[in-house]
Amino acid sequence: MRTWCEIDLAALRHNARFMRRQPGCGSGLLAVVKANAYGHGLVPVARTLAKAGAGWLGTAHVDEALPLRTNGIGLPILLLSAALRGEVEEIVRQGFAFTWSDADELRHASRIARHLKKNARGFLKIDTGMGRLGCFSQQTSELLQLAHQLPGLECLGLSTHYAGADEDIRFARNQCRAFAPWTDSGLVYHTSNSAATLRSLNPHACFARVGLALYGCSPLPAFRDHLKPVLTWKARITTVRTFPKNWPISYGGTYRARSGERIAVVAVGYGDGLFRALTGRGYVLLAGRRCPIRGRVTMDQIMIDVSDVPTAQPGAVVTLIGRDGSEQIRAETMARWAGTIPYEIWTHIQSRVPRRFLGSR
Ligand SMILES: *Cc1c(COP(=O)(O)O)cnc(C)c1O
Repeated sequence: MRTWCEIDLAALRHNARFMRRQPGCGSGLLAVVKANAYGHGLVPVARTLAKAGAGWLGTAHVDEALPLRTNGIGLPILLLSAALRGEVEEIVRQGFAFTWSDADELRHASRIARHLKKNARGFLKIDTGMGRLGCFSQQTSELLQLAHQLPGLECLGLSTHYAGADEDIRFARNQCRAFAPWTDSGLVYHTSNSAATLRSLNPHACFARVGLALYGCSPLPAFRDHLKPVLTWKARITTVRTFPKNWPISYGGTYRARSGERIAVVAVGYGDGLFRALTGRGYVLLAGRRCPIRGRVTMDQIMIDVSDVPTAQPGAVVTLIGRDGSEQIRAETMARWAGTIPYEIWTHIQSRVPRRFLGSR
């Protein structure tokens, strides 16, 4: 293989157990596996999390949920995005849980449910400050009543979503307060993503919806050492050459070699999902050493400075994300270099990069 990811399922189990033990997790864990399990590989990840104690799975939409069923995973599934009209019939047939925000969605789901002689199940979402899905707090009673009256609807409870429990605790507390009237209503509810779970904002929820932390990245520095990175990204060196002073490296010659600089070409590029923004920024690991990226990231190849690694040769394995000796590059670190967030680093890794699963039972 030229470039690949290794997915450590033992680390995933560890993170799932750690999050499950957090008071902020409430009575259960909904493992968020949207976007191909944050790029980690949907089915092996979901299967592992099901065995590690997740009671629910969360996907963005119905097309992501179906492969879970065809692969024999029977956990209840919550669709985190709003459903398109054309998706509702399949969702009701499958018994997936909707995220509802308004009366039109409730009425449409009820119509389809009656037609299929099945129940449409879902949670009514309240927008407490996310500005994405949900109804306003003052509409909640009316919508709950409507959901109760409409035939074929099974409203499982309420939900909300925090807009920045990692970065703005005061805003998160305000959202928590806005939702508080509903936590005493006797209805089941869920609210927390990874950051809100670690901050224990709603310890009495029916479950927390956890993604990021399961994959080993902590939204809060205090928990970083408790979570194990799950994904390692590697690629092989294809060629190594020594350059004379000032030789231009890569498109545009934005980097000029030092005299006698040894440069290796690595078989990975933005076509694999490595951010082009890493041009001239950051480094990779080789033989336990940091090797800076030189010049522009190209579609299939990058150049790295291996002057300090005499053993660098074609076929040698470079670590883009992961550990090598005492050095480690976390997805968070790469995200900082690329000016983005770990979620995007992972979900950007293309299907062209095979995922190898380690530590399965
Ligand atoms: C993606 C998502 C989550 C998970 O968030 P993390 O920060 O990855 O834990 C939770 N809830 C909703 C509604 C989401 O869309």
